[in-house]
Amino acid sequence: MFERLNPLSADPILGLMAAHRTDPNPRKIDLGVGVYKDEQGNTAVMRAVKAAEARLLQNQTTKTYVSPAGSAAFNERVADLVLGTTLRHTLGDRRTTFQTPGGCGGLRLAAEFIQKVKPGSKILVSDPTWANHIPLLGEAGLQIETYPYYDHNNHGIRFDAMMEQISTAGAGDLVLLHGCCHNPCGADLNQAQWQAVAELAQRKGFTPFIDLAYQGLGDGLADDSFGVRLLAETLPELIVVSSCSKNFGLYRERTGSLTVIADSSNAARAATSQISATARGIYSMPPDHGASVVAEILADTELNQDWELELTEVRERINNLRSALVVELNKQGLDRDFSFIEQEKGMFSFLGLSAGQVHTLINDYSIYLVDSSRINIAGINSSNIEYLAQSIAAVLKS
Ligand code: PLP
Repeated sequence: MFERLNPLSADPILGLMAAHRTDPNPRKIDLGVGVYKDEQGNTAVMRAVKAAEARLLQNQTTKTYVSPAGSAAFNERVADLVLGTTLRHTLGDRRTTFQTPGGCGGLRLAAEFIQKVKPGSKILVSDPTWANHIPLLGEAGLQIETYPYYDHNNHGIRFDAMMEQISTAGAGDLVLLHGCCHNPCGADLNQAQWQAVAELAQRKGFTPFIDLAYQGLGDGLADDSFGVRLLAETLPELIVVSSCSKNFGLYRERTGSLTVIADSSNAARAATSQISATARGIYSMPPDHGASVVAEILADTELNQDWELELTEVRERINNLRSALVVELNKQGLDRDFSFIEQEKGMFSFLGLSAGQVHTLINDYSIYLVDSSRINIAGINSSNIEYLAQSIAAVLKS
């Protein structure tokens, strides 16, 4: 049965990681893969996670099945984190939250659920968007279209063009929005723009679908969910997927959530049973460990404080690196304005280089990044930033 199968080409980011690993150049820099790294280049386990794991090891008495919706404690705590406690209470039974295998699992579960509600639904995604949105949503059967988002010339959001395009969506259509720290461009909607999107959704009747993969890495936990909370407050329906991969550093533990807000508690009850059956038909139940860790942290004042403190350190490191990179690039005497890097949020920004220039950075300078020139800001540190800026300048001047 497999004789006619052709191998697929390797994932470009995995290829970059492998090339970086075997590059003997001591000055090599990896700006490709999207994980947070500290000043030493490590993706460490967070302090609160270690402490919560120790407690779990001590206190856990069973490994029996939980449920397709995962841990109820996790779901309520994460709903608080994403929506805020007051709004969670206000929404009452109109909201249902599911623990999912990471943000990816949440995106796919949502897509499979939507496919049941309305097969082949249209979903508009930003151009550009995170590459994995396409298979996660499209392979479930949703029809993907795009709306203009990032202007590579002006390094800003093409907001008017975006609004024009999403105003073509109507009832039964979805619009995917990045809650904060847009991947790949780092350019986020401001509060007035979120307000305008909320009004448009209200008027046109489409259902916004927010991917919140980086809550806490942009401006702060509450600020980063401004858009989610505004839309949840004002619209009859909303889908939100969140990830604990980055803000809890739980990448491999596959911890995330799917929240559906419906316009009545009856509709939310029906959604709960449908999503349960959908999860049961894919992976049955989500993995427990990461969710138990998160629930433990969010329920404990001390662990929660320490987690927020470390997350603040992560966010400040990223934001300081953004400023420092602009300073270093400005020292190179280039006729280019890089200040957009400082204004953008989260781990990613486009440097604004051509694929050819990216290849020169890789081949001649051992600086690894993807063809689009998206960089992971957290791959920069105080000992490589000068070399990075000098190398970018050399490539731009050549
Ligand atoms: N959404 C976006 C935009 C992402 O960048 C990522 C991870 O890189 C995810 C969702 C899902 O992450 P995970 O499945 O690791 O939680």
